[in-house]
Amino acid sequence: MRVTLVRGDITEQDADAVVNAANSSLLGGGGVDGAIHRRGGPAILRECRELRASRYGGGLPTGQAVATTAGDLPARWVIHTVGPVHSSTEDRSDLLASCYRESLRVADELGAAVVAFPAVSAGVYGWPVGDAARIAVETVRATATKVTDVRFVLFNEEAYTAFERALGTGENGR
Ligand code: ADP
Repeated sequence: MRVTLVRGDITEQDADAVVNAANSSLLGGGGVDGAIHRRGGPAILRECRELRASRYGGGLPTGQAVATTAGDLPARWVIHTVGPVHSSTEDRSDLLASCYRESLRVADELGAAVVAFPAVSAGVYGWPVGDAARIAVETVRATATKVTDVRFVLFNEEAYTAFERALGTGENGR
């Protein structure tokens, strides 16, 4: 698996699947979620509502992932995953790792080879970006998957630098 870093906007990624840092309602929110629904158009929300009605009446649990169309985005699919809110009293690392594992599992089911991830939970959900980056990189590297390319799409310089450190190369590479 090739792991690369991009500084940019996940809605512009030409990947097979882009991952959304969703909330459990699946009905949209701010940050990445807002951008994906805004740029992807109403088809995504339509499928999310169907998922709520059929499989996730109580919402998508934290750490799980589910796919919809990518609507008008350049990608084929959006994989929605719900990151844990950061806690200073409880270690929720495994739930964050689960977001990456489950997203890769869903990507395998779809046959998606190139998958773009944002820094799940590193925004409104409050994770220190260094920890979020380390968990993200360690988890994708440790997961057995048919995905050939994982691309982390970082929205700002701080996140980009944190992921560079986590990759351990100090440069964009493996
Ligand atoms: P969460 O609620 O899981 O913390 P957020 O969307 O608030 O999710 O933030 C997750 C990360 O995504 C943050 O680092 C934020 O800066 C970044 N981000 C926000 N918008 C975009 C975007 N359009 N593309 C890529 N990353 C984004």
